[in-house]
Amino acid sequence: MMFLTRKIIFSAAHVCRNPDWSDDQNRYVYGHCAVGTGHGHDYICEATVKGSINSSTGIVVNLADVKQLLRTVVTPLDMTHLNDNGDLFQGQEPTTERLTRALWHRLVPMLTQCELARLNIYESRTRSIEYIGDDTMIYVTRRVEFNAAHRLHSQVLSDEENARIFGKCNNPNGHGHNYELEVTVCGPLDKRTGMVIDMGLLDELIQREVVDRYDHKNLNMDLEEFREVNPTSEEFARVIWNRLSPHFTQPTLYKIRLVETSNNSFEYYGEQEL
Ligand SMILES: [Zn+2]
Ligand SMILES: [Zn+2]
Repeated sequence: MMFLTRKIIFSAAHVCRNPDWSDDQNRYVYGHCAVGTGHGHDYICEATVKGSINSSTGIVVNLADVKQLLRTVVTPLDMTHLNDNGDLFQGQEPTTERLTRALWHRLVPMLTQCELARLNIYESRTRSIEYIGDDTMIYVTRRVEFNAAHRLHSQVLSDEENARIFGKCNNPNGHGHNYELEVTVCGPLDKRTGMVIDMGLLDELIQREVVDRYDHKNLNMDLEEFREVNPTSEEFARVIWNRLSPHFTQPTLYKIRLVETSNNSFEYYGEQEL
């Protein structure tokens, strides 16, 4: 099976507020999307289709056709205020979860030569939604940045072996990274909010369990979890997973992605079979 992705960008305004709730409750559930009368997002929409390669053409489907279908679905929303779109949202808060789900259901009947595998919408650099056609499994990814120092050095290896394996990262006085962390949770749409998880809750957990603990720290010297453990990004991703996962039952924690540098990133899904 082959997977192909086509991207399209559109801009729209929205505000997510439940008039029956206080300002504080709206801010907790919807974050900045609850503020004022509206704000804009440059939404990046990626449609991934799947299918078999046609032996005559060597392609699954002409991506130019997928692009045209995406345009048909997205163009009516471009430069509009989503709250005014009664057809898509019926007066409900136009969350990115609802937006992604609605565009999926518009696109699927149009795709006759291939099957839609997933639809991703990035509302900003720090929050995105993935929909795969299953209302019980909607993926929300939140991204944060922090920095920390470490030295890669295994206590069970000789100095020579450490120097050979870790190279410059074995420098005795350490070095620093601007880490990027993506936390992906998976669960059903909360009909009360139109979200998978309250933004305030997700942000609180990431802030408390990761950023407050590791930002501007020396992992080897300041954190007891790395007294005996070499703070590689593999181990670090697993430690972060183990700190976060007990707090997620509905939705569940699906994936941790730790970006160490622009060249190196690490994904961890727990010990589940994929
Ligand atoms: Zn917003
Ligand atoms: Zn390093």
